[in-house]
Amino acid sequence: MDLDRINAWVREFARLIGENAQYLSDLDAAIGDADHGINMDRGMTAVVAALDDTPPADAGALCKQVGMTLVKSVGGASGPLYGTFFLRMAPAMGAESADFAAALRAGVEGVVQRGRAEAGDKTMFDALAPALDALDAALASGADLAKALAEATAAAEKGRDATESMVARKGRASYLGQRSVGHVDPGATSAALLIGAAATVVRT
Ligand code: ADP
Ligand code: MG
Repeated sequence: MDLDRINAWVREFARLIGENAQYLSDLDAAIGDADHGINMDRGMTAVVAALDDTPPADAGALCKQVGMTLVKSVGGASGPLYGTFFLRMAPAMGAESADFAAALRAGVEGVVQRGRAEAGDKTMFDALAPALDALDAALASGADLAKALAEATAAAEKGRDATESMVARKGRASYLGQRSVGHVDPGATSAALLIGAAATVVRT
């Protein structure tokens, strides 16, 4: 993943967030405060504006700029979490496809350090973790990055769907306890879009 691809990835994620903003907020209305789509759309709109204003020189600098913009512009739990994701990706970014998987892994480790989510807590981690495992497994078995990211996307979507039956143990949704069951987690839904956006830009 070079600078152009990372740039395209972030912009595709911003586009998907814009397209799904209402849906993400509707999901959050059921188990939170109905702002996940609004939060993410505000953040990703600011991210794209910053990329247009001050185009970063390399992929690492781009990830850093994205992370800082998200931390600055998004209120709520998701801003610092997605911000940390990109900030942690930054130093791990390189030019090779294997580096992208490692950088994503570093990003997710940052999310875990920051939010302390574990598998099954009904958060974005439940989409991200299976996606990374599928990505690593596919690359290890010789798949190219496009194929591996397609498999990662399928795993992220499966992880997202599995949050429906989970009891929320982190964030606002955890206040609902058992009543959070029966609803898909909004952050897991945006996280599946993040992985899907990478698959899209690598395929094209
Ligand atoms: P807020 O909950 O502050 O309103 P958002 O609505 O933007 O923030 O984001 C909610 C999403 O953030 C949840 O759906 C969940 O996926 C994610 N989330 C919340 N807390 C955590 C956490 N501790 N670790 C990982 N993800 C979290
Ligand atoms: Mg919310």
